[in-house]
Amino acid sequence: MVYNFNSGPSILPKEVFEQAATAITDFNNTGLSILEIGHRTDLFMSVLEEATALVKELMQLSAEKEVLFLHGGASTQFFQVPMNLLNEQAMAAYLDCGVWGIKPIKEARLFGKVEVVASSKDRNYTYIPKNFSVPADAAYFHYTTNNTIEGTQMHFIPDTQVPLVADMSSDILSTVIDFNRFSLIYAGAQKNIGAAGVNLLVVDKDILGKTNRKIPSMMDYRVHIENGSMLNTPPVFAIYVCLLTLRWLKKIGGIAAAEKVNNEKAALLYDTLDSLPVFRPTVAKEDRSKMNVVFIIEDPALEKDFLARCKQEQMVGIKGHRSVGGFRASLYNALPLKSVQVLTDIMKDFAFKNG
Ligand SMILES: *Cc1c(COP(=O)(O)O)cnc(C)c1O
Repeated sequence: MVYNFNSGPSILPKEVFEQAATAITDFNNTGLSILEIGHRTDLFMSVLEEATALVKELMQLSAEKEVLFLHGGASTQFFQVPMNLLNEQAMAAYLDCGVWGIKPIKEARLFGKVEVVASSKDRNYTYIPKNFSVPADAAYFHYTTNNTIEGTQMHFIPDTQVPLVADMSSDILSTVIDFNRFSLIYAGAQKNIGAAGVNLLVVDKDILGKTNRKIPSMMDYRVHIENGSMLNTPPVFAIYVCLLTLRWLKKIGGIAAAEKVNNEKAALLYDTLDSLPVFRPTVAKEDRSKMNVVFIIEDPALEKDFLARCKQEQMVGIKGHRSVGGFRASLYNALPLKSVQVLTDIMKDFAFKNG
């Protein structure tokens, strides 16, 4: 038994892996592999339709929302968003809460003006700024709901009249929120939705078509909407794995059921860390992420020992991001509570032996 705390690509439900494996050799009892069917066949069209319907149902999206499955990962959205929404003379507002805050800001500057409304750089991105205001003339306000690398999470939706745009790559489908508040949501699939190689996009048609820029078809959201995510060959297998994961999420009771377990996992891990002086969570309490728990060991000399112990106990993916150091345990939807119980038992034992 391996306990997989990887930050992404990351753990998916075991039944998803099994069903995906079957589909590679025999998709839906057709005698064909999912890898060899045409994307415009009824076989694949029904995959895309069911995945789209499940996204709408699970996220409780209102009728005017468009759901797309696009290539290029979340990083493509860093420039595709301003390319579609920001005129050269206009300004977009951004929140800077770490690595995944800085990168979209850099890309947006290629297309128009950017105003960074707040940043938590002053304290190493260990908190979420609260008292910022978004200029009323901003074309949109962009933020990252969960900072995967630094381990902070926005537990509120900022109050603003301008269209909200969010990178939800690492916490989408993990907590019940009002997704309809957002004009545009994007998320790389490889954390909570499915396999790497596809990007989920939820967008209001109303905000599109307002720039005077020429946009290549592959980059133009409106063209993708007109073509139903089928402008060119979509990442067929990655979308199929999304469908399997969405079906699993519905089966276990939807986002609310996942949230309940996510809350238990995060509470158990943070409570354990808070109770053991050997360890220290690095993030301000009220801004702690329920998806990515970042912590350090007070005595750096013990770091190697803890990593070795984790390795010995089949714990995978505990080492922190190279830019932050320390440790990180990612607790995405598919991670069972049991994995956190085993991890916290090891932590207690490690603290006892080294305390
Ligand atoms: C993982 C991640 C990304 C990067 O996604 P790619 O698909 O690799 O481009 C972007 N934003 C956030 C918040 C992430 O967690």
